[in-house]
This record gives sequence, structure tokens and C-alpha cells, in this order.
Amino acid sequence: QKVPVVTVDGPSGAGKGTLSTLLAEHYQWQFLDSGAIYRVLAVATTHHGIEPDDEVGIVPLAASLDVTFDTQNGVTRVILEGEDVTDDIRTEEVGSVASKVAALPTVREALLRRQRAFAEAPGLVADGRDMGTVVFPNADVKIFLTASAESRAQRRYDQLKLKGYDVNLSRLLSDIQARDERDSNRSVAPLVAANDALVLDSTSMGIKQVLDKAKDFIEAKL
Ligand code: C5P
Repeated sequence: QKVPVVTVDGPSGAGKGTLSTLLAEHYQWQFLDSGAIYRVLAVATTHHGIEPDDEVGIVPLAASLDVTFDTQNGVTRVILEGEDVTDDIRTEEVGSVASKVAALPTVREALLRRQRAFAEAPGLVADGRDMGTVVFPNADVKIFLTASAESRAQRRYDQLKLKGYDVNLSRLLSDIQARDERDSNRSVAPLVAANDALVLDSTSMGIKQVLDKAKDFIEAKL
């Protein structure tokens, strides 16, 4: 019996995390935050003093990455080598290093099996950049969620501000644009909508509207 998989891909800050979490809760399915894996790897790379472009140094780290996602009462703590890095992995600096390590083909390869292992009954919602194109190309339902860079920067700004971080909007916008550029133009698994994906632009949609459209699409497909 094949496990149903819904993939949610798109650029950073489009609302994939929020949408995927809500979908996973609604259907009571497993949830894969693949970006968190790249972010954890970025932190591990820094901890071990490895440069983000040192492919030979990072691959073994990726292959043996000691990370656990511990979800209790809807809150997921991310544990790297016994240390809680839940908050550390969310900074723009870590996001930027993550997008550098994520551009290395053999690093992506080393993380494939770990990501595919999340496909367990009763189903999976997978959030990332290449969920529908590379990791789960046979997914039953594919969604590509995007939004203008400006509105994504504004949302990130509001999120980080709320968490008490000191952030600068124009800096966030240029970080997001640089990350988009790197994610879209890399040679392996570039950020692109799968042919069979439903493309949703959340620039002028609230989360409720995005969620309703996604649910309609999923229910028509499953
Ligand atoms: O989604 P999030 O912003 O947490 O991802 C951090 C970085 O990890 C992205 O900018 C991207 O470079 C990389 N990533 C990826 N493939 C994924 C998920 C994330 O390359 N499936």
C-alpha cells in the first residue's frame, strides 16, 4: 500500500511552512520540513569548522547527520548532536549558509534517503524546494506556492520581529533575492514548479484562502 504524499514547494517566505503544517494537522499526516534539514546541516558545518563550499568535507557530515525532530503538542524541537537548535536554525545567516550547502549535488544526494523515510502511513506533507521534482517525483499531489519577493520579505520581517529579533527590511529583501537567485539557478534540483503542480500565488491571498484552495486541490486528486 503506497503512502499518499502531498508536496509543497516554493521560494523562501511564501508561506509553505504555514500551509504545510496546517495541512499535516488537518489530515493528521507526517510532516517533512526539508529546509530544516539543510539548515541543521548548515549549523553542523559551522560547528565543525567546515567551509560551506567544502563538498568533500560536508558529504560525510550530511550522511551521518545526527538530527531528531521531536514533536510534542504540535511544537517541534530540532535536536542536533544532543543540542536544541530549534531557534538557531531560523536566522537569515543560517538560511544563507543552508542555501550554499544545498547547492552541492553530492550533499543533496546524501540527504535523499533520510527525506524519503518520512513517507509513512497515513500520509506525508513535504515542504521544500524540490519535493515534487526530485525527492517525491511520484507524489499524488503537488503544490507550488509563491509570492512576490517584497511580500515575502515583509512576512519574514513580521515573523522575526515577533520573535524579538532585530531585523532590517531592505536587508531581508536583498537576502531573499540572493537566496532565490542561488536556489533557482543551481545545477541540481533548482527551484522550479513541477509540470503537474498547482501554482498558487499568495501575494494577495490570506492563509485561509490558500489553505482552502490547497484542500480543494488535494481532495480532487486523492
Ligand atoms: O525553506 P528554508 O528557507 O528553511 O530552506 C533553507 C534553504 O535550504 C533554502 O534556501 C534552500 O537553499 C535549501 N533547501 C533546498 N531544498 C529543499 C529545502 C531547502 O535546497 N528541499
